[in-house]
Amino acid sequence: MIGTGYVGLVAGACFAETGNTVICVDVNAEKVEGLQRGVVPIYEPGLEETIRRNATAGRIRFTTDTKEAVQASHVIFIAVGTPQGEDGSADLTHVISAARQIGEAMNGSKIVVDKSTVPVGTAQLVSDAIRAVTSHPVSVVSNPEFLKEGNALEDFLKPDRVVIGADDSEARQVMEDLYAPFMRTGKPILCMDARSAEMTKYAANAFLATKISFMNEIANLCEAVGADVGRVREGMGTDVRIGAHFLFPGPGYGGSCFPKDVKALSKTASDAGATLRILEAVQAVNDHQKRVILQKVDQELGNDLTGRTIAIWGLAFKPKTDDMREAPSLTVIRGLLERGARVVAHDPEAMKEARRVFGENIHLVESPYEACTGADALVILTEWNTYQRPNFETIHRLLKAPVIFDGRNIYNPERMKQAGFVYHSIGRRVVRP
Ligand code: NAD
Repeated sequence: MIGTGYVGLVAGACFAETGNTVICVDVNAEKVEGLQRGVVPIYEPGLEETIRRNATAGRIRFTTDTKEAVQASHVIFIAVGTPQGEDGSADLTHVISAARQIGEAMNGSKIVVDKSTVPVGTAQLVSDAIRAVTSHPVSVVSNPEFLKEGNALEDFLKPDRVVIGADDSEARQVMEDLYAPFMRTGKPILCMDARSAEMTKYAANAFLATKISFMNEIANLCEAVGADVGRVREGMGTDVRIGAHFLFPGPGYGGSCFPKDVKALSKTASDAGATLRILEAVQAVNDHQKRVILQKVDQELGNDLTGRTIAIWGLAFKPKTDDMREAPSLTVIRGLLERGARVVAHDPEAMKEARRVFGENIHLVESPYEACTGADALVILTEWNTYQRPNFETIHRLLKAPVIFDGRNIYNPERMKQAGFVYHSIGRRVVRP
């Protein structure tokens, strides 16, 4: 497994769990040293225990030595990052460099699997990069990953489907055998050509991002016309053609995947002489949505927040992860700081990451209530379970003014009114005591 990020670690741990011997490689020596001591660098429920258990059983180990790992393996996964390049395309530097390293280390026939999210045609590029430096036979397979951070192990162990893009039937059989233990729930392994597999991943993520932006626009319209998006969502989601998932409005999508994948697919389209007009709108809506909470703050408190303190609950881009990449909290906090506010924030898992991102520019506190103490308003940006049923009397007492901006619609507006709060949410009317 080349790359020990969210995907590489989870995939490595799960393949070890089903009895395979897994060697995880990373160029980051500090990360590898930590992993060798049992320190998992990311927060993902169940991951640390699974890695420890399999390390103790001798089924998973960690190294910086790509050559040794490649030579000892039959199947080599590339699970390195594919960040957004300057022109919006996926930056394949890490993928191609991993491919070259694999090629240079090869000591016999290997199957190389692209697990990273990569544009159409990358399997061919990986194959070319390997073949340029070795004469050993290689089959390159595309096997995009659909796990969700926060539920990654569960998703990997019980996937909705596994997509395998392989032109070589022997490689396809090896992949089917490898995944067989995870398919006992009857979900399908979908075999196709590599280009279609590569496209499937982007199309799936772009569709999910579209659902979010669509609901965010409907939510903003609900506010303008006095409808309640919560009711509208239920009314829509019960239609089986629509489905109930991914219909929650909020402060915009973030994370390490949707923003970059939507951009990369748009770039693939423009390179092919096509325009994906829907995706341009999806991105524009999302950029706007990340600022909706700031607009509400401006309306309620004015846009000069000098001398004011704002409490933030939730920094990660979604619950059960410490990942803050492209999180709405980044836009909101930067906007609050620009307006002169002092920001005091809490998150159950992402505080270390927030310290790295914001340094001393924001104050991080150990408890949600501590964040509220003396603040002029509370802003909720991640729907962590621990924020779902707080003691509203305590919050009311601690805040300087009882004002809440809820970017995730986790409270009932009527109850908030009764509890004496000015309560702003997304796609629902503002309530005042
Ligand atoms: P990440 O940034 O968390 O981890 C990537 C790791 O690869 C880093 O530890 C880095 O040091 C290492 N690396 C880079 N070049 C290397 C090399 N040549 N040899 C060894 N290690 C190297 O990334 P991630 O979130 O795990 O994502 C990996 C890929 O999977 C991306 O393409 C992403 O789009 C895709 N993906 C991510 C998720 C997710 O939820 N994070 C879900 C599905 C797919």
